[in-house]
Amino acid sequence: MSTEKKWTQVEVVALYNKPIMELVYEAATVHRRYHDPNKVQVSTLISIKTGGCPEDCAYCPQAARYHTEVKAERLMSVEQVKAQALAAKARGSSRICMGAAWRNVKDGPEFDQVLDMVRTLNRLDMEVCCTLGMLTENQAQRLSEAGLYAYNHNLDSSAEYYEEIISTRSYNDRLQTIENVRKTNITVCSGGIIGMGENIADRANMLITLAALLPQPESVPINALVPVPGTPMEAMETVSIWEMVRMVATTRILLPQTQVRLSAGRSNMSHEGQALCFFAGANSIFAGDKLLTTPNPDINEDLAMFKTLGLNPQKPFEKKKQPETIATEAAQYHALGERPQWSRPGHSIGRNLAKQQE
Ligand code: SF4
Repeated sequence: MSTEKKWTQVEVVALYNKPIMELVYEAATVHRRYHDPNKVQVSTLISIKTGGCPEDCAYCPQAARYHTEVKAERLMSVEQVKAQALAAKARGSSRICMGAAWRNVKDGPEFDQVLDMVRTLNRLDMEVCCTLGMLTENQAQRLSEAGLYAYNHNLDSSAEYYEEIISTRSYNDRLQTIENVRKTNITVCSGGIIGMGENIADRANMLITLAALLPQPESVPINALVPVPGTPMEAMETVSIWEMVRMVATTRILLPQTQVRLSAGRSNMSHEGQALCFFAGANSIFAGDKLLTTPNPDINEDLAMFKTLGLNPQKPFEKKKQPETIATEAAQYHALGERPQWSRPGHSIGRNLAKQQE
């Protein structure tokens, strides 16, 4: 299947709504054409800087304006991150994703420390991913020179529904950051969340946007909303396993070569439900008992599930060769002290404002 097919919303909604046996069969067929169906990539997410975020993402307990149990913490040290990465590697993770609750990257000592983390983890022969918010092309180049393998920047939902969940930045800001990453050697990881009150057309539109990025993202995480008390989405109903299966299968068909990652919400899914997602084309998971701040299955439980299903963890750099880490003295890109004008669209979201004022 060509990755250059232009999908329409009508086609994708029809695909998503197909009888589930037909949809899963079609997705599994595509999956086998491009991937080993018995291999699953295992990533570990480390929250290197938790909470205190200035953004107003309605689903996120790390937003400073909501009253959740998440306490703001300072940026972790390089040694702390290295110790966690080594422990994750010993348990079969091939990739470390470092998440910082920032609106955007700012040149300075904290970003320099993150660059050190990237250099250190790349030398452990693990795929290194970061999710740090919006970043400029120069900052992306600096991460690339440090040896970053992937940058995560989720679209979350459709452009239309994005305005119902976040008021402090625009969809175009997201696309701009992805474009900045694409100008480097770093691979792109971008996906979304279902269960935030969006409709199927929104899910389809998000996938159409991702599928139209050329090249398509190398990795697409599919999250099910975990409603966290204190956030504007605390009362949302959790999505059913069937919605996850449909979303994974549709993603697999639209983005045949990408790694489709089962992300947040996995702790609510049975092994049978996850097996159906793997059959429908999911080939990556996040491991570890926490996903930033929300619960996730214990690694031993995941290893037991892998054994039952005959799945094997994918080795690092099977899809793309390991990036080189350029020594700081030899780097071409340096801090520019940029102050980019990421947009603040100036619109407000009643649900978010109400929760903030509570
Ligand atoms: S999702 Fe990211 S940007 Fe949004 S509030 Fe949470 S940490 Fe901040």
